[in-house]
Amino acid sequence: MLSLLFPNRCIGCEAWLESKGPPQICARCHSGLNFLKTPAHLPRLKKQYFENAYSALAYEGDVLDWVHQYKYYRQFHFVPSMGALLFQLELEWERYDAITYVPLHWRRQWMRGFNPAHLLADQITKKTGLALVHALKKTKHTKPQAKMDGEERLQNIKDVFGLSKNALRQINGKNLLLIDDVLTTGSTANECAKVLKNAKAKTVAVLTLARAL
Ligand SMILES: [Zn+2]
Repeated sequence: MLSLLFPNRCIGCEAWLESKGPPQICARCHSGLNFLKTPAHLPRLKKQYFENAYSALAYEGDVLDWVHQYKYYRQFHFVPSMGALLFQLELEWERYDAITYVPLHWRRQWMRGFNPAHLLADQITKKTGLALVHALKKTKHTKPQAKMDGEERLQNIKDVFGLSKNALRQINGKNLLLIDDVLTTGSTANECAKVLKNAKAKTVAVLTLARAL
């Protein structure tokens, strides 16, 4: 049934694929992807609450298109491929105790019907066997950040995240992986990491599918 709904075609160029994905990406499209080798350098953050921010891919070309299609046009069949690409990042997964994700405000979650970061976190949870913790909630509804510069983003997102009910026990002393779809200035991830560190997380590392260069 699933294969009828999601035929085995490249999510980049729609070429038919012989091997079963995910990722459902042909060799040509795969070779065009810009895999990032080093964690982000984020000099704008005055105080960085996470250890490192890892991203699998540059936020450009096909990757930008997939994220848009997924987030705004509900192309959920991209999700397993995105998860597989994210998992190609060579992290020491066993260093971490649990996975969490950047939450949406309930109003945006309700309007969109899903949280892109949560679905990616589900993929990584399945692949690593790590626990998924619903650690954070967004307590204020904020404007979309896409058209903001670095300073505006910082102000827009400051102190808008809080701890979920009963999450404390699952955070205390733990090495956490915080997942989001795209990293830009790092201000959103940093605000989330701040809440997690204040809740006595031992370490927080950020993991995103893509990073804006
Ligand atoms: Zn292709």
